[in-house]
Amino acid sequence: MQNDPPKQAATPAARDDPAWQPVRRIRKGSGGGTSPQVEKALAEVRSKIHPRSVQGHFARIRVLMVFLTQAVFYGLPWIQWGGRQAVLFDLGARKFYLFGMVLWPQDVIYLAVLLVLSAFALFLFTAMAGRLFCGYACPQTVYTEIFMWIEAKIEGDRLARIRLDEAPWNARKLRLKASKHFLWVLLALWTGYTFIGYFAPIRELGAHLLAFDLGPWQWFWMLFYAFATWGNAGFMREAVCKYMCPYARFQSVMVDDDTFVVTYDHVRGEPRGGRSRKIDHKEAGMGDCVDCSLCVQVCPTGIDIRDGLQYMCIGCGACVDACDSVMDKMGYERGLIRYTSGNAITQGLTQPQVRKRMLRPRVLAYSALLGAIAIGFVFSLATRTTLRVDVIRDRGALGREVAGGLVENVYRLQIINSAEAPIELDLSATGVPGLALQMADEGGTRVRVEGSSNRLVPVVLRAPVNGLKPGLYDVRFETVGTRAPGDTDTVVEQSSFYVPN
Ligand code: SF4
Ligand code: SF4
Repeated sequence: MQNDPPKQAATPAARDDPAWQPVRRIRKGSGGGTSPQVEKALAEVRSKIHPRSVQGHFARIRVLMVFLTQAVFYGLPWIQWGGRQAVLFDLGARKFYLFGMVLWPQDVIYLAVLLVLSAFALFLFTAMAGRLFCGYACPQTVYTEIFMWIEAKIEGDRLARIRLDEAPWNARKLRLKASKHFLWVLLALWTGYTFIGYFAPIRELGAHLLAFDLGPWQWFWMLFYAFATWGNAGFMREAVCKYMCPYARFQSVMVDDDTFVVTYDHVRGEPRGGRSRKIDHKEAGMGDCVDCSLCVQVCPTGIDIRDGLQYMCIGCGACVDACDSVMDKMGYERGLIRYTSGNAITQGLTQPQVRKRMLRPRVLAYSALLGAIAIGFVFSLATRTTLRVDVIRDRGALGREVAGGLVENVYRLQIINSAEAPIELDLSATGVPGLALQMADEGGTRVRVEGSSNRLVPVVLRAPVNGLKPGLYDVRFETVGTRAPGDTDTVVEQSSFYVPN
């Protein structure tokens, strides 16, 4: 049996308010720690977590974040750009389309820099405000929120769900559970389908899916992602945050007593205890906490924030909303649980002082690094050339003498045009007197490379042997590309020219 309302008498406030019905009442003025009854109730809450739904400022932000993040995730693959999918990781063609940009495997450095940027952003936000990402934008939190919303719509709020779980199997329970899982599985499959839609054109995938002729990897990843979503958001839930997420473990090294985190104001709240709204609790020597346990009941990870900051706290703010509603009902000032710092509580700092302390050396260092890397990243991306040429010497045929008193060296030019438009290229080389370039297969010096594609062009360099001493000479390959009149790109690559004995 779990989460049963206690049998003790409720205060008038609790009796009047249905939201307080499962709230555990405790002895008046029991401050300095939670009573055994409440401890037992809290242990029950923790054994299987059925978070109570909560309304308030942070609940609205969480809902907003669910809509925002999911609008991006589900919507992005459907956006078209220049006649193709705007965001597409085409693994087969080894290209990554990102709106007007085409990234190649050679551009993996951008991905590496993006990861470094994300890491510094995480360090910065954690140092400033704890696990904000976890509470509002982490996919685990967001999908759990959506799955719990479906669950609450079908099975009811917390108490109804607890009772349903404890009830023996009957037609009603079967119907409710089946309906819930049906919707969960539909959503999970849609999520899996969207996921593979980032790696293959999503509009064509739909037709393949309906005809049941997706590729084996596409089936695998769609079903695997769907299964992971269903399992993590439907069953694992807070266990992922508590036991599997590495971020939960290493956040402690980034958080200090000036970090802005969800904090219980124990100075103001203790001694805690139930009381009538009519009494002056301060005169009675009590703190503001009425020990209603609402903050624990709404907590998705089942912790009691009054025990202090814990690594399981994902900073979602649900307990802040819950406690504020209790404070409103009691006629007390809001903010017994609030986003603030540990030092603010122990040293009695004001909110402006707390905010000022957020700008401490560690935060400034992270900000400076993050800013510098971000500026470098954007600049490099903006000035990135869309024409790339790699010169590869033909190792099998070093320089040799050919008819006409010439020395010949063979090369291959790997030309990558990562722009959408085709490009006409004029090839030339300098560095040795009388040096001439010619394409080995088609002759001439002009080549065309289609948009978003690459081409391997064998070329030969020839130079008169007269006057050349045997040895290696530096040569420069110059590639001038023209996409439209006046729109040219020039790439210069170094290589060597070998003159045999
Ligand atoms: S901190 Fe607030 S919500 Fe939690 S038990 Fe005390 S009064 Fe209730
Ligand atoms: S303690 Fe509060 S902020 Fe932390 S996870 Fe629980 S409800 Fe969210």
